[in-house]
Amino acid sequence: MPARTGAEYIKGLQDQEREIWLRGERVKDVTTHPGLANGVRAIASLYDLQHDPALRDEMTYVSPTSGARVGLSFVIPRTKQELERRGAMMLRWARTTCGMMGRSPDFMNVTFAAWAAAGDYFARGRPQFGQNMRRYYEYISEHDLTLTHSLINLQRSRTVSGMFNLEAGTALQVVRETDAGIVVHGARILATLGPLADEIAVYSPRVARHTETHSPFALNFAISCGTPGLKFLCRESFDLGRSHFEHPLGSRFEEMDCVVFFDDVLVPWERVFLLGDVDLLNGTATATHSMTHTAHQGAAKNIAKCEFVLGVALLMTKTLGNGHLPHSEERLGELMLYTELMKACMRAAEADAQLDEWGVMCPAALPAESTRNLFMTAYPRMVEILQLLGSSSFMITPSEADFSGPLAPEIEQYLATDTATARERVKLFRLAWDIAGSAFGSRQVLYERFFASDPLTRARALGALYPKDEAMARVQEFLDDE
Ligand SMILES: Cc1cc2nc3c(=O)[nH]c(=O)nc-3n(C[C@H](O)[C@H](O)[C@H](O)COP(=O)(O)OP(=O)(O)OC[C@H]3O[C@@H](n4cnc5c(N)ncnc54)[C@H](O)[C@@H]3O)c2cc1C
Repeated sequence: MPARTGAEYIKGLQDQEREIWLRGERVKDVTTHPGLANGVRAIASLYDLQHDPALRDEMTYVSPTSGARVGLSFVIPRTKQELERRGAMMLRWARTTCGMMGRSPDFMNVTFAAWAAAGDYFARGRPQFGQNMRRYYEYISEHDLTLTHSLINLQRSRTVSGMFNLEAGTALQVVRETDAGIVVHGARILATLGPLADEIAVYSPRVARHTETHSPFALNFAISCGTPGLKFLCRESFDLGRSHFEHPLGSRFEEMDCVVFFDDVLVPWERVFLLGDVDLLNGTATATHSMTHTAHQGAAKNIAKCEFVLGVALLMTKTLGNGHLPHSEERLGELMLYTELMKACMRAAEADAQLDEWGVMCPAALPAESTRNLFMTAYPRMVEILQLLGSSSFMITPSEADFSGPLAPEIEQYLATDTATARERVKLFRLAWDIAGSAFGSRQVLYERFFASDPLTRARALGALYPKDEAMARVQEFLDDE
């Protein structure tokens, strides 16, 4: 089956019955629900790009398995050229959503491409797990499915030392094995895109009890979002049902985040990729390099987001006429710096890519990880800069109805600036507020701080990769030079 269209993606969601809860009600159809439908449309628009005649070669490639054209983010890159093509494709998707849908399907597609190529890694657990992984990758790539994922266990307390406090009855664990598969029970966070996905991947970056070799919490599997016993609990929607004028980002790009409950869910054996082996689980992201491939996807998103925020900031200062003031220049310069750094990291990750032990062209890990780590603090700062540049203009943002209400003449007269009509000004600052102040915008800041786990974990990951001896040797040489 070739790459899907947006309509095919939407039909897939409609055909699959699943248990999604939002504001106390079970969602009958995510594609028409007012809090979710616009997010579905945004993902559908990404799939539609695959069928734009001008973009077909950019967005798809010929599957070596079926000969059909499938989505390019599923490619297992074997050359630098293929890696760069994948980067360009992901950047096009990220620009389509202004970098505001971090969990677009490419995030999981690159993960499973890396894992399928490293299928032998999973075979170390049990020989059939390697085969399961390769078959599953083929299944999702040939059907162009959308995946959500949930990695983190809910914790009742954080009193136990170590990063995760895993408790039976709360964390997700295997409760029994049957001829058909494993039965799992517990709760996980935070499945972004959950209601908008066809399948859910469940694994962990690592489990806490490093002293154990076998744990019922050590898991890697993927199942349909419609699997019996699987329940998605949504936060409230940040799509408030307003127009694009009033809520330009929230009315388009709500990707939703969910807690996931697993109520004795049966995972068929063919969907199990890792079971019980703590060392194998803890090593998965680094040994298969899936961590670096997701960082490549994140780098594309960061570029799109930086470009967008910079563009908004430039338009704000143009509209307010304060771009020439020294502190505005300094702040704009900082935004330009972040944008260029993200581009440089992406380029370096691709230029210095190397074939790994699985025969995959893997982006260079240090620049890829650097863009991810830097963005945890850079993005909140970018938002702060918007707030500093915009000041009270964020509050001079009447609704669309006010433009045709009794105060319309005053609004037109007093809210205009030298370079913008009142309507242009308000429209722009409503967009800026959706980045810098609204619930949608605040969630974006939280996302960038935490989506790739907490800052300490990311710092440790970078530290583990960094060639520290090289840095120290240079200084030592200087010290030793009498
Ligand atoms: C908007 C958003 C979207 C997300 N999307 C996804 C997704 O799609 N899939 C997914 O699997 N996950 C997702 N995540 C979850 C993300 O992986 C976690 O939020 C992240 O791993 C941090 O875990 P936590 O929230 O439980 O933080 P906590 O563990 O509660 O940490 C809270 C704070 O305490 C600190 N802290 C906690 N324990 C320790 C310790 N032992 N030592 C030192 N400091 C500590 C942390 O550094 C952090 O600052 C998302 C998160 C957000 C905010």
